[in-house]
Amino acid sequence: MQRLVIIGDSAAGLAAIEAIRSRDRRSQVTLIAAEDHLPYSRVMLTYLLAGKVSRDELFLHGPDWYRQTGVKALTGRRAVAIDTRRREIVIEPARKSHRVPYDRLLIATGALAQRPVLPGIDLPGVFCLRDLDDAVAILQYAGTLGPHAGAVFLGGGPVCLQALTALADRGMKVTLVVRSAAIFSQLADAYTAGLAAKVLRRNGVRVLTNAEPVGIEARSQRQAAGLAVHLRSGQRLATDLVIIGKGTQPNTELARGTDITTDVGILVDETMATSAAGVYAAGDVTQATHCVTGRKVCYGTWTNACDQGRVAGLNMIGCRTEWTGGLNRNVTTLFGNTLGSVGVLQPGGSDRGGGDGRTLHHYVDPRRRVSRRLIFRDGRCDGAVVWNACDDLGVLSWLISTRHDCSGCEERLTRGETTLGDTLRRGLAGVLRAPRWKY
Ligand SMILES: Cc1cc2nc3c(=O)[nH]c(=O)nc-3n(C[C@H](O)[C@H](O)[C@H](O)COP(=O)(O)OP(=O)(O)OC[C@H]3O[C@@H](n4cnc5c(N)ncnc54)[C@H](O)[C@@H]3O)c2cc1C
Repeated sequence: MQRLVIIGDSAAGLAAIEAIRSRDRRSQVTLIAAEDHLPYSRVMLTYLLAGKVSRDELFLHGPDWYRQTGVKALTGRRAVAIDTRRREIVIEPARKSHRVPYDRLLIATGALAQRPVLPGIDLPGVFCLRDLDDAVAILQYAGTLGPHAGAVFLGGGPVCLQALTALADRGMKVTLVVRSAAIFSQLADAYTAGLAAKVLRRNGVRVLTNAEPVGIEARSQRQAAGLAVHLRSGQRLATDLVIIGKGTQPNTELARGTDITTDVGILVDETMATSAAGVYAAGDVTQATHCVTGRKVCYGTWTNACDQGRVAGLNMIGCRTEWTGGLNRNVTTLFGNTLGSVGVLQPGGSDRGGGDGRTLHHYVDPRRRVSRRLIFRDGRCDGAVVWNACDDLGVLSWLISTRHDCSGCEERLTRGETTLGDTLRRGLAGVLRAPRWKY
């Protein structure tokens, strides 16, 4: 009987367990999970902040799920080391270190919020938002503040946009501070980011670009008595709450000192195998092939983590499956507007394309407040940034990921005029020729 061990019980780890159990009820599956919660949706944390869902609504499975799935769950236990030669994992906390043997191992340890080195970063009232405990701590702290308290967001990472609107919806006075000239560079090109910035400002969010924080100080010794963020320009921003939104970094700590090769994340092949025998990795911890550029990149999306987890799980039980590359895809609402983006966000060289052979097709309809920027190369769509007309984002993602030839349809696609039926009729043959999953 095979001993399968999974570290991390979020998107990637859970998808791996489901894939394993869909074909194999016999192998012994052990899950090691540092958080002492039932599995929950990280994606919904900003909805919790906005007061749109309760804490209980975040949980993906009930307490019986592990037993029903035949998984030995070691929750609230952190893996601290992997011995790839002896095929053992060391876990804590325990009275004495505890070792878990494995035949196949999946590292699904996700990512950590980036915490800049800044004086005052550890003060009460300064938070990151990565897990349930962070969200609960922010809500508890915000509950001690007055109705019109202020929040400063440092950095414009993808999560930041959602968290920022959540706190603004709660009536907080929000300031966004980014070092670059444009906001949300991981979600949009500079043009669309400009539209987003205008909407934020119109809705009372103060947006400071080209602004570098150099420190945070407590305005008094009392908790919840206020903070001040100092910028390099000399400006001082009085606030009650600071949220660090600088993005994430893959949590590769367990690979350190082993033969598991890392770059920014853990490097994996198309089966999600790492360089160490019997060891797989999936989700935000990895660096894996991008289906447009072919480069190894780090993803930070739930769907990619699930896809990778599923592929890893099947390969762990000897069912060869290939991951043909992923796409970064995001959809976010912003004060009644929708920002959607997928794939390559802007052509290299100039704004109209150039250096990398990509061309930009841009459609604007000011009456409907719509902007659609699609990027093509050799008739294939490489990416899209869409403002307020996102209904076909799924179709665009599909065209991009299947590398479908869209020659002649560029303008219609950019204007959002190609119907799903149209696209399917033209695309079905391409999809059948290039299946994403190979079992
Ligand atoms: C607030 C927020 C909003 C988001 N919104 C979206 C969205 O709208 N759409 C989207 O696609 N994505 C969104 N994401 C990103 C998405 O949640 C992640 O891409 C996804 O959770 C990655 O899943 P994962 O399984 O790779 O890792 P994670 O979800 O990071 O989980 C890793 C797990 O491993 C555990 N772990 C780590 N180290 C150890 C160890 N040594 N021992 C034991 N356990 C360990 C961690 O405690 C954690 O529970 C959001 C993320 C956040 C934080």
